[in-house]
Amino acid sequence: MYIVAYRALGRKQNGLAITLIWAEVILHAALGVVLIGWESGFHYYLLMFIPALFVSMRLRGAVVALAGLWSYYVALYLLMWFMKPLQPIAPGALLGVFLFNLSVVFVMFGYLSFFYLTMVTSANRKLRRMAITDSLTGLFNRRHMTHLVERELARFQRNRHPVAFIVLDIDHFKSINDEHGHETGDHVLEDVASIIKAQLRTQDLVARWGGEEFLAVLPDTNLQNAQVSAERVREALLTQDWLAPNGKRIDITISAGVSEFRRDDDLNSAINRADRALYRSKDGGRNRVELEAV
Ligand code: GH3
Ligand code: MG
Ligand code: MG
Repeated sequence: MYIVAYRALGRKQNGLAITLIWAEVILHAALGVVLIGWESGFHYYLLMFIPALFVSMRLRGAVVALAGLWSYYVALYLLMWFMKPLQPIAPGALLGVFLFNLSVVFVMFGYLSFFYLTMVTSANRKLRRMAITDSLTGLFNRRHMTHLVERELARFQRNRHPVAFIVLDIDHFKSINDEHGHETGDHVLEDVASIIKAQLRTQDLVARWGGEEFLAVLPDTNLQNAQVSAERVREALLTQDWLAPNGKRIDITISAGVSEFRRDDDLNSAINRADRALYRSKDGGRNRVELEAV
């Protein structure tokens, strides 16, 4: 049965494989107990189905199957209460069989628990990543960025280290989409995001703030140094060769507005000032960095 189940798994016939394994364990447990007695410990294998039931079925089905398993287990026990084993073996051999079965069940339970834990941990990690990042660019999403920046600002209120904000917006992005297609637009967004990340420091926070707009928050950075960083990003985008799939060159430039956090600021007021500076960049002809008005 195990050989057939193994082959079925290879052929992706999981249903058949699982049925065979179930049948084998259920029959094996009954056979072992009826032939050499309850003390053989063959019934312990049935217990291993309990976690598997809840993992593989809906709650209702699992509860019904659990009740069935419990009845089977109890019935087997009661049966052996009233009858003698059909093929009793020597007490020493029985002890050996018992210890062997118990140990196998321990090892398998340990392995199962480890397997479930790994599964849950990796699913959790994936969920968390999905919850805090933007799926296209891999940058923080707006919600998580707001949370991170609020923490950063609380630190600012304590130690008064400067914190700078850069709002960056791709120039004429709509026409890039219109000319080269939305998919090329998406690739440009991904590449712009990784260039922005590469040009800033590891401790700088970068998010996709809107469609083709990014927000960078630079801890321990004043307005002038943030301007230098923003210029570095702008120039890195200029020096990159942007090619559409048809080989045509695309002109990609970015405009930025920079502000520095002030004592009476909150997140919105600091970003608004960077936004106003960004509008001046756009009005001034784009592909430039402007500072907030002092
Ligand atoms: P400006 O220089 O004034 O910023 O002009 P713009 O065209 O970049 O700005 P506008 O706000 O008019 O257009 C932004 C465009 O970005 C429109 C929208 O379709 C596009 N966009 C937003 N999100 C995505 C995205 O995820 N993928 C793609 N391909 N395009 C997007
Ligand atoms: Mg734009
Ligand atoms: Mg925009």
